[in-house]
Amino acid sequence: SFHQIRKDEIAQRAHLGQGTRTNIYDGVLTVRGAAGAAEAQYFSTEQNNNSDGREMRVVLKVLDPTHRDIALAFFETASLMSQVSHVHLAFVHGVCVRGSENIMVEEFVEHGPLDVLLRKEKGRVPVGWKITVAKQLASALSYLEDKSLVHGNVCAKNVLLARRGLGDGTLPFVKLSDPGVSFTALTREERVDRIPWIAPECIQDVGNLHPAADKWSFGTTLLEICFDADVPLKERTPAEKERFYEKKHRLPEPSCQDLAALIQQCLSYAPAERPSFRTVLRDLTQLQPHNLVDVSSVNPDLP
Ligand code: ATP
Ligand code: MG
Repeated sequence: SFHQIRKDEIAQRAHLGQGTRTNIYDGVLTVRGAAGAAEAQYFSTEQNNNSDGREMRVVLKVLDPTHRDIALAFFETASLMSQVSHVHLAFVHGVCVRGSENIMVEEFVEHGPLDVLLRKEKGRVPVGWKITVAKQLASALSYLEDKSLVHGNVCAKNVLLARRGLGDGTLPFVKLSDPGVSFTALTREERVDRIPWIAPECIQDVGNLHPAADKWSFGTTLLEICFDADVPLKERTPAEKERFYEKKHRLPEPSCQDLAALIQQCLSYAPAERPSFRTVLRDLTQLQPHNLVDVSSVNPDLP
């Protein structure tokens, strides 16, 4: 179940990119009617407000024309994202059916994906920044874990920056994007293509939509963060990638020693051996350098 958005409530702007069976557009959502009027009043100080209602910048994820089962998997994701509310999860407004097109309407996250930023700022991103991002991501995943929900597509590309927090005295602020078409509906080829993010147990058995799968993906995402978005196994062929998992090879150790042990635990071939996100969060909190702790949490009595 999710909120249904009428096609006259959305306006499509520039093409932003392509995803797994999707095309992404910049867009505007206009909230009209009773709720819209109430919100318009509440937000009356905002500029993006007019007599028609409140306008919000969104992304429109337009699903490629597809089989019914893929569309259902897409709606399943919209429904999953509509059940949850967390500061580090991107907000999904709902779904719009426009003719034969199915469109997910998601909050526009200002500064784009984490992998792009890491590549652009290669070598200049401090460890403290990376640990902050890892903590925020782990807190979103811990929230999902508590609800026994599986994201299924955790990767740096799907971590979006609401605030950059680089060189301006602020901390970064990230939001995990929706997982898109659920991997249970993808072809084997598409799943192999997601090596090394997809958990090894999910290659063979698609019924394996278990919360432990997100832990592996989180481990790989931490590796990407450590390597400034250089992805392990990127140059390998699909057959080589599959063999890597079959032989239970280990992904490379990160340069960032602080995170190495934690990553290795997440990247365990035995799902039961991967730590809970609560444990991950505790470990990351202990790693956080003191100079990066949010000032509001610092004891004012300390010199
Ligand atoms: P997948 O399910 O594989 O993640 P997708 O449909 O989410 O596919 P992506 O490749 O993740 O597509 O995203 C495509 C482009 O859209 C990215 O370059 C990203 O910058 C942009 N984008 C996606 N979601 C958002 C968002 N919520 N806010 C701003 N930009 C976004
Ligand atoms: Mg995405």
